[in-house]
Amino acid sequence: MYDTIILGGGPAGVSAGVYAARKQMKTLLITKHFGGQSITSPEIYNWIGTKVISGVDLAKNLEEHMRAQEGVDIKDGEEVVKVEKSDGGFKVVTDVNSYESKTVLICNGAGRRKLNVAGEREFDGRGVAYCSTCDAPMFRGKAVAVVGCGNAGLEAARDLLPYAKEVYIFTNSDQIKGDPVTLAKIKQAPNFQGVVYNTNIKEILGDKMVSGLKYQDTKTGEEKTLAVQGIFIEIGSLPNSGAVADLVALNGQGEIIIDHRTGTTSVPGVFAAGDITDSAYKQSNIAVGDAAKATLSAYQYLQGKAN
Ligand SMILES: Cc1cc2nc3c(=O)[nH]c(=O)nc-3n(C[C@H](O)[C@H](O)[C@H](O)COP(=O)(O)OP(=O)(O)OC[C@H]3O[C@@H](n4cnc5c(N)ncnc54)[C@H](O)[C@@H]3O)c2cc1C
Repeated sequence: MYDTIILGGGPAGVSAGVYAARKQMKTLLITKHFGGQSITSPEIYNWIGTKVISGVDLAKNLEEHMRAQEGVDIKDGEEVVKVEKSDGGFKVVTDVNSYESKTVLICNGAGRRKLNVAGEREFDGRGVAYCSTCDAPMFRGKAVAVVGCGNAGLEAARDLLPYAKEVYIFTNSDQIKGDPVTLAKIKQAPNFQGVVYNTNIKEILGDKMVSGLKYQDTKTGEEKTLAVQGIFIEIGSLPNSGAVADLVALNGQGEIIIDHRTGTTSVPGVFAAGDITDSAYKQSNIAVGDAAKATLSAYQYLQGKAN
């Protein structure tokens, strides 16, 4: 029986692992992969203590820091499918095995949200893409639309500008949600065609490959098409809360509701942190801090002290 089982090897999970090791908690960390969502980011400028770092290097550092901890067992490449109550604690079931613990720290983050329009699935990998770091070079000389104007959308546009002939950003909003600094850099590129505000994507067009985008101007109701050969979808994330949906209380977005002072969930002994929670801001530094807090709360709980 472990003192705690940590779900996830992103910033939150690794922070939890390091803090659990410092408190000499008997710990198991289970993750599909180390690094978390920003692994696709070419440059991260706000990871405190480091001027700039790539997502891949951040992932390597996180894994190295985690593996340097004594007393933490690691299952890398396992997927948690269910967490349930058991005698004296909790049972964490993965696609490989099951494990028991007195507390659980849920840090398994979020994944990509889909547009759910006609053509999205059909042209996935044939013009529709979700990872600009991975796929931008394939769009050399092509016209490409990025759907979404948060930081992920802006970063996708930045990745594409050195390769694509034309880059557009589409948003359903009337303003950009990502960092103004990044937008200012994008606007300097001669092949950036601008932001198309107040749009609702209706369909992704094509034959064997993507050939265009059908969208509606939500202000005028007018439907328009734009000829593009690539569409990068960057419209946010969905919490990976399926495995714990029957255990803890979730909000309407499927995020785990936590006490933001302590990281406690609706179930005593279960704590959560990072992008899987109803935290207002989804950022690595915040995930790390909140996971530290949640782990200290789990430690208090194991000591029989109230949080
Ligand atoms: C493209 C991009 C760029 C970003 N840039 C920045 C930035 O510059 N600065 C910043 O502060 N933030 C940035 N963010 C946000 C930041 O990445 C997240 O806020 C942060 O990664 C959240 O950490 P987390 O540990 O909560 O979750 P995640 O990073 O989502 O990590 C979740 C972990 O859980 C694992 N996992 C998921 N489901 C399971 C399961 N069922 N079983 C086992 N393991 C599982 C995953 O493999 C992963 O290791 C960016 C995000 C994206 C998408």
